[in-house]
Order: sequence, then C-alpha cells, then structure tokens
Amino acid sequence: MPVRGEVRCAFCGSTNVAPLSMFGTAQLVSQYYCHQCKSVFERVRWRDDAKEEGEATDEDQATLSTVY
Ligand SMILES: [Zn+2]
Repeated sequence: MPVRGEVRCAFCGSTNVAPLSMFGTAQLVSQYYCHQCKSVFERVRWRDDAKEEGEATDEDQATLSTVY
C-alpha cells in the first residue's frame, strides 16, 4: 500500500493515524484520527508537500541545473 508522505499525530507524534472523511473542508486540509492518543487533528498541506509530488518552481529548476 503506497503511502504519500508520512503523517504524524500533531499531539503525540505517532504515525498510527488514519485519515477521516475529507469532504466539507478545504482541499489543503485533511483530518486524521490518531489511534495512539485517540485525538483528531488536521493536517495542512504546505508547499513542501507539493514539491514532493514533483512540482518544481522555476527557481528550483535553475538551482538544479547549476548543481548538476
Ligand atoms: Zn496522537
């Protein structure tokens, strides 16, 4: 089962979390339930997440071409 990124509980840091229903909230916010401390927390997808998915900005491309 492929996992995109690693989601950790905002309270205890556990990775034993499960995503809740995502409807009704903004696309950039996902709700998760932590089985460890039995808490519900929201995870906001920041720009760093977009980078992991392969979206490179013009600035990043310029940096890469310089390095390599
Ligand atoms: Zn927790």
